Parts: sequence; structure tokens; C-alpha cells
Amino acid sequence: MVIVMKRGASASEISFVVSQVEAFGYRAHLSHGTERTIVGVVGDDRPLESHNFELLPGVEQVVRILQPFKLASRDFHPENTIVDVRGVQIGGQQIVIIAGPCSVESRSQLLETAWAVKEAGAMILRAGAFKPRSSPYSFQGLGEEALELLAEAREETGLPVITEVMSTEQVPLVSKYADILQIGTRNMQNFPLLQVVGRTRIPVMVKRGLMNTVQEWLLSADYVLSGGNRQVMLCERGIRTFETATRNTFDINAIPLVKGWTHLPVLGDPSHGTGKWDLVSAVGRACIAAGADGLMVEVHPDPAKALSDGAQSLKPERFAELVASLRKIAPAVGRTL
Ligand code: PEP
Ligand code: MN
Repeated sequence: MVIVMKRGASASEISFVVSQVEAFGYRAHLSHGTERTIVGVVGDDRPLESHNFELLPGVEQVVRILQPFKLASRDFHPENTIVDVRGVQIGGQQIVIIAGPCSVESRSQLLETAWAVKEAGAMILRAGAFKPRSSPYSFQGLGEEALELLAEAREETGLPVITEVMSTEQVPLVSKYADILQIGTRNMQNFPLLQVVGRTRIPVMVKRGLMNTVQEWLLSADYVLSGGNRQVMLCERGIRTFETATRNTFDINAIPLVKGWTHLPVLGDPSHGTGKWDLVSAVGRACIAAGADGLMVEVHPDPAKALSDGAQSLKPERFAELVASLRKIAPAVGRTL
């Protein structure tokens, strides 16, 4: 449920509403829009009908949110959320390109890729330090050494960095280095992890679970938001279907659907979404045409030698071609790049 305050409601009217919400045992989350303030009422699902919040001074109306997710909903926060990452605005007018290798493999591999993607137009560097591999025998990532290399790459190139945090125990360490904490597909429903990153004030990217519905994905975003961390973005990365010709089935529908349901930025990851480098650019272009706020793309200087996800990694020159083509698509959908 949300309580929509009247335009120009006073601070004391708002705080009185908050105190009444809390007196009934619910939590109040405030959304200050340019027009009016909205008080999100969250708690358990007991009926709230009898509380007559609409009679309180300064209240315009009380609206029930029919979707099970609340804080991620556009009913609670009608305007787009813009997540600011060291001056890079995600969810605004500009399309944001995140790129880099699947994993940090070495200093030279990371720095070479970082400079190449920056040169091509990427604004944020991605690379995994802790890798969620399906096989325990596959490369697991360089851990803290990789985080230090990411910090060095940020220092040198000026690009903010995003990297995955796989467990609650890793949050303090990864938070020391990352500008965005990535929640991977396999952890989208790791609720304790979502709660811990929700208590940080570091931006969080929640990737869609490979077996999860859009509604479940947005409930996961609500886990982070309800901890008080408002800097949340979503990333569609493909789901598992009966189709085996591609690694995953990229759910292009989810982009415009989720943009309508939530105020949070929505990005697309055509690398994991397809698993094949020669499909990545076409699906990446489709994401931007469909209204995504940005892309996350895997790039490797020598994909054949990559320790993870080489088959879906673009060479730097192909990535540069992709960005050049996105510069033509962005204005066609009212965006800049
Ligand atoms: C990744 O971004 O490298 C990754 C492991 O992504 P996902 O969790 O979507 O598989
Ligand atoms: Mn990967």
C-alpha cells in the first residue's frame, strides 16, 4: 500500500503519517518526487483497510499496490530512479555501457581490456573476482588479488568497477573495492545475501535468476530496497528454456515489461543471454531498441584463451563496432550515447 501525500504537504504532516504507519507495526519508506511525497507502507500482508490513513491531514489518497513487490514498483516511485556511480548516471537519458572480461585473469589482461573498452566508449568496467562456476574444477577467480587489480584499473582508467559478490561473508571485502555489487543469476534468491547488500549503501545490480519470473526478480530487488539501499538496478541475462541452441534464451520481453513495472534502471547482458559472441551485438542492439538503460558486455583481448566465457566474449574491435552501432540506435529511441 502507498499513501500519496497532497502536493505541498508539510514535513510535520508527513512525519505524522509515518508515525501512524509505524504505530500499526509497519515500516514506512518515503519517496520524495518532484510533485509529491509517497509513503510506502510495508510489512506483513495483514489487511490495512481499517486504519483510515486517508483521513490523516495532508493525505491525498491511499493506493493498494496489487503487485507483490512494493518498493520496486512504479506505484510507489513513479519517476525513474537514477543510480549515480562515481558520476556515471544509470537510468537517466544516457545509455550506460558496462564492459570487461568475464573474470580477472591477470594484471595485463585486465588493464589491456579496461583501456580498450574505455577507448570504445564503455563507462564502467566489469570483471569477476569470485566466479560462480557450474563445475568445481573450473577456474574460480583470483579472489582478493583480482579486487586489488580492479582497484588499480579504476585508478588508471578512471572507470568505476562492478564485480560479483557471491556470499554474505564476502560482502565486507568486496565492498572495499567495488563501486557496484553484482548479484549473480545463481544468487538472485539468496535472501540473506540480498539482505546484507541491502544494508550497505553501495549500488547493487540484481541479475535475473536463470529460472525466475519477472515478479520473483522484482521481489528480490525489494529485499535490497527494504534494507534502505535505494541504489538498485536490474539486469536481464537470459533464462533457461527448452532451447539448447543458445546458452540461454534472452527474454527481450522483460525489458519493456520491467521498465513499465519498476522505476529501477534495467540493463541487458547479451553475453550470458546468448552464450555466443556472434549473437551478442545483435541482441545488445535489440536491448537498447527495447528501452534498456544500458548493456553489460563481456570483452576479452584473446577470447580463445579466456579462463571463463571465451565463447561469448567480444574482441575489443568488435565491441567498438557494437558501441558505434548503438550510437545510431540510441537517438532513435530518445536516448543519448
Ligand atoms: C557474469 O556476469 O560473469 C556472471 C557470472 O553472470 P550471471 O550471474 O548472469 O551468470
Ligand atoms: Mn561470465
